Amino acid sequence: MTSSGFSVEAARAAIPQLKVQVRGKGLVYLDSGATTLKPQSVIERVSRYYLNENSNVHRGAHYLAEAGTYAYESARQIVADFVGATTKEEIVFTRGTTESLNLVASALSDSGRLKGKQIIVSEMEHHSNIVPWQLAANRSGATLVAVRIDDRGEIDRGHLRELLGKQTAVVALTACSNVLGTIVPVKEIAADVHAAGSLLVVDAAQSVTAERVDVKSWDADFVAFSGHKVFAPFGIGVLWAKKGILEELPPYQGGGSMIHQVTFENTTWADVPQKFEAGTPNVGGALGLGEAISWFQAQNPDLAMAHAKSLAEKARQELSAIEGVTVYGAPMKRTSIVAFNLNGVHASDVATVLDQQGIAVRAGHMCCQPLMVRLGTKAIVRASFSIYNTAAEVESLLVGVRKAKEMLN
Ligand code: PLP
Repeated sequence: MTSSGFSVEAARAAIPQLKVQVRGKGLVYLDSGATTLKPQSVIERVSRYYLNENSNVHRGAHYLAEAGTYAYESARQIVADFVGATTKEEIVFTRGTTESLNLVASALSDSGRLKGKQIIVSEMEHHSNIVPWQLAANRSGATLVAVRIDDRGEIDRGHLRELLGKQTAVVALTACSNVLGTIVPVKEIAADVHAAGSLLVVDAAQSVTAERVDVKSWDADFVAFSGHKVFAPFGIGVLWAKKGILEELPPYQGGGSMIHQVTFENTTWADVPQKFEAGTPNVGGALGLGEAISWFQAQNPDLAMAHAKSLAEKARQELSAIEGVTVYGAPMKRTSIVAFNLNGVHASDVATVLDQQGIAVRAGHMCCQPLMVRLGTKAIVRASFSIYNTAAEVESLLVGVRKAKEMLN
């Protein structure tokens, strides 16, 4: 434990995947932006559910069903506390950010609120915060427009104000770019969006381990994130919205659990959040998410996140100093993500050379093709740091990039 209360050694000791050997070398995992590693306690929590509590929730009267339901609803409460929700009824469990955003886009479209209106996204959105809106726009005769980003990688707030107007139904923005690392000033933007009478949808996929997410201070209308980017299993995610908005919106999918009463003529809906959780949910995933959040909170998140950011800053500075390396974006507030290229070399080739040295990074368009156009490249290499990374791993990256430069130039 450091004097400041965060111990990277303790965080590392909790993560079994860090023991994986890659071609005889220790794994250097710099791909937490794609998915974080999972602590042993999370894996054990999921196993314990299947071993001792396996049941379908909300529908059985027997012991296991009660235990499973209790655990599932307790996980919802953990998520609600984590994001500062007013009640756990504001938390809808989904498959992930993508499903949460599709849910909002679809329900808003079905509610008629998008008809003939404008939807604003930004130039640096992940495809999952563009395509659902395109589908919804096509269904409802709405127009999709993109607010510009500036050369630093910040939202152009002046352009956003120009675009906003009575015609704007929704603004859907990332709170943290998965390429440039930009931390977007959600609270300030929410004020502009609400002044124009529009709704603000926030993609918090990268934010949950980058800053403290507090839905009340953000004052957004919808917030989406994925469990697997916050130390939890795949296939579980969250949509937060105020209870009143969830109550107003029509359901996203139909099926068991989301109904109050069904006849052939008509169906009435269950209360929220069940209205949006049709079918058997991913109970094990939800319990894993609850455990993951508890684990993260026990690490002293403010210090842990600052640690990850300081590693990324070091990597950013040192990479920028290597001749022939381009580092993308320089937002004022940024998280633990660094996007770069070796000039004249394809990003995948750089990633392959790094992989030979046991270093896991991501290469490609990062599901942000419009942003790649804006940056004037087809692909980038992304090193993303988390709370279990070390300064020695930054050094490994730098050695790896220098080696890639020698081999590929
Ligand atoms: N939004 C951002 C900013 C992301 O980084 C990602 C995943 O990389 C997503 C959305 C989609 O998340 P998921 O694939 O977990 O639904």
